[in-house]
Amino acid sequence: MNDARPETRLQIRIVPVTPLQQNCSLIWDTETKNAVLIDPGGDIDTLLGALEHFGLTLKEMWLTHGHLDHAGAAQEIRERTGVPVIGPHKDDQFWLDQIESSGDRYGIAGLRNVTPDRYLEDGDVLELEGVKFDVSHTPGHTPGHVVIHNRDAGIAFVGDVLFAGSIGRTDFPRSNHQNLIDSITGKLWPLGDDMTFVPGHGPTSTFGQERRTNSFVADQLTGYAGAEKRDGSNYDQKTAKRYT
Ligand SMILES: [Zn+2]
Ligand SMILES: [Zn+2]
Repeated sequence: MNDARPETRLQIRIVPVTPLQQNCSLIWDTETKNAVLIDPGGDIDTLLGALEHFGLTLKEMWLTHGHLDHAGAAQEIRERTGVPVIGPHKDDQFWLDQIESSGDRYGIAGLRNVTPDRYLEDGDVLELEGVKFDVSHTPGHTPGHVVIHNRDAGIAFVGDVLFAGSIGRTDFPRSNHQNLIDSITGKLWPLGDDMTFVPGHGPTSTFGQERRTNSFVADQLTGYAGAEKRDGSNYDQKTAKRYT
């Protein structure tokens, strides 16, 4: 029997890494045991230990953006395993070039600068064992941020674009708040309310839940899909947690 839809063979585990508790995602095919790491930001031994625990063979690493907590372990794991680093968009190379200096600033040892084997562009397609993942370029938090999603499986890996109840910081060099809002309403919401997303930090949620309740990007704040706009002060943005 081999009539299962391919996505039903996928398993996902979220492994929080670094003191910033970044959600690294480990996804694999239950039959072939081939795996991908999305945003291997640090704690290399933990990540390699998780691969070993589940008996997996790492095939690729995918990066959503260039911040240290998302990309800091990629170079070391590439050296140890020989697997390629794919993404983010080339506009984040300046972040990938300062992982080591940022690590010093945050007091996190062992993180390395990295140059990907391949940059990603809007509309690119990634693949794990025949299951395709679409790539959207979503600038704002960083200029080269990408989101990786599979519509059939209803899952999106959104890095630091969107969180449960919050959105990415835009107080970094080359961040842009309006670009971030446009990325969320223009690239994420059209994927559908039922999409579950894995954010770079904190718990998972769905796009529909955030369109109703997120204190930065609820429809009543953005006017998305013709929603009647309300004053942003009706939403308590001060209590929302902002992540790196
Ligand atoms: Zn982050
Ligand atoms: Zn970030």
